[in-house]
Amino acid sequence: MKVKIWGARGSVPAPGPTMNRYGGNTSCVQVTFRDESQLILDAGTGIRALGLELAGAPRVAILLTHLHLDHIQGLMFFHPCFRPECEITIWGPSSPEASLEDRIARYISAPLSPVEVRELPCSVAFNDAPASEWRIGDVTVRAEAVTHRGPTLGYRITDGETTLAYIPDHEPALGSSLDDLADEWISGYDLARDVDLLIHDCQYTDAEYPAHVGWGHSALGDALKFADRVGAKRALLFHHDPLHTDEKLDAMAAEAAERWRAMGRDPETIALAREGDEIEVNAPGPAVHRAREGRSTFGTTAAPQVSTRG
Ligand SMILES: [Zn+2]
Ligand SMILES: [Zn+2]
Repeated sequence: MKVKIWGARGSVPAPGPTMNRYGGNTSCVQVTFRDESQLILDAGTGIRALGLELAGAPRVAILLTHLHLDHIQGLMFFHPCFRPECEITIWGPSSPEASLEDRIARYISAPLSPVEVRELPCSVAFNDAPASEWRIGDVTVRAEAVTHRGPTLGYRITDGETTLAYIPDHEPALGSSLDDLADEWISGYDLARDVDLLIHDCQYTDAEYPAHVGWGHSALGDALKFADRVGAKRALLFHHDPLHTDEKLDAMAAEAAERWRAMGRDPETIALAREGDEIEVNAPGPAVHRAREGRSTFGTTAAPQVSTRG
């Protein structure tokens, strides 16, 4: 299983010269499986560039965690939507209020959009994520509601022996410290338990969090605690605050590694996600290497498995 990060920013795109290394595009992750099939996790602005790379793909499957704009904004600029021969399937959270298609159509419709969903040239199917796990090709997917604002899912994706959890918007410590919660009461615990790679919300520093309690996101300390409690083998911290520059995120990455070490974990197995990161999820040992800087921040092996672009 391979993961590529096309957008790691949270809330709103944050381009600019001080954001270049971590990137300004919002949530989008491409996952490629053993049989070369793929899933796309969220359709933030990062999906636009991914769509250009998928120019010839006859079928595309997208899992949406929720419908906040930073997770769907790229859909309208996703090239496969405009190819008549392309079949797109989109899964997302159900809501008693309206169908997934109708809720997405609130964005892809006038006056916010020049096109309506029904006018998209591709064939597109909208599915509520099932309550129990389901198969997409050879891959098993499980979705569960997690603590955020509005109906929001986290995903657990299994391909053979390899497991990925994707919980980009998540506030598991809302209402109670994680230290005080038994495992079964922690939001997202079962989704992320013992995964090879956890991609998890880390929007705030611990100092910033008290002013943002209930906004649906995690402080660094809670993201680390969650990753440790669930026994994630590696964790990629994600959904960076739009105010956090490269410099700030570098400092958070250093702090994360130090605190992870103090928790008895290998600091090579924690990193802050950057746009362009590519990760071989089931490679033995540490597996992220950022060639441009000539050093690893997420582990390395003799044959680098990961490179960072941009
Ligand atoms: Zn978000
Ligand atoms: Zn959100």
